[in-house]
Amino acid sequence: MYHPAPYQDSNNPLGLPIYECWFCPTNWIGFSALLYHLEDGRCVKEDRIRTLAFETPEYGFYGNKLTDANPFFCFHCRAQFPQVSYLYHHAEHTPSCSYLLNPSECLGALRDFYIEYYECPGSDYVHF
Ligand SMILES: [Zn+2]
Ligand SMILES: [Zn+2]
Repeated sequence: MYHPAPYQDSNNPLGLPIYECWFCPTNWIGFSALLYHLEDGRCVKEDRIRTLAFETPEYGFYGNKLTDANPFFCFHCRAQFPQVSYLYHHAEHTPSCSYLLNPSECLGALRDFYIEYYECPGSDYVHF
């Protein structure tokens, strides 16, 4: 049997892509985990993760107002979230909403926006 990421299997039952932090040598399972790491103040740039989400043309598809208690929402089911990482975690773990992570959808576009903004081509996908 072929396992693309054997050492991650037990921790990564959904087979989410592994992301390396742009600023420190850590790896995260799923884009939500990387965002959480950055939002949580364990790394640099914590504030930009939040405000950057409102600087894309697509923000109306997942954003309320930056000053709201829940600035983010799921376009598909309208669930509300206080942090953008929670929204990605929701999409990664909810089959009916996970299509939003596709490159042509709003959360895929925001993910690509972050990756382009931090300009680390090649290091976003460490392993798949
Ligand atoms: Zn980091
Ligand atoms: Zn949803």
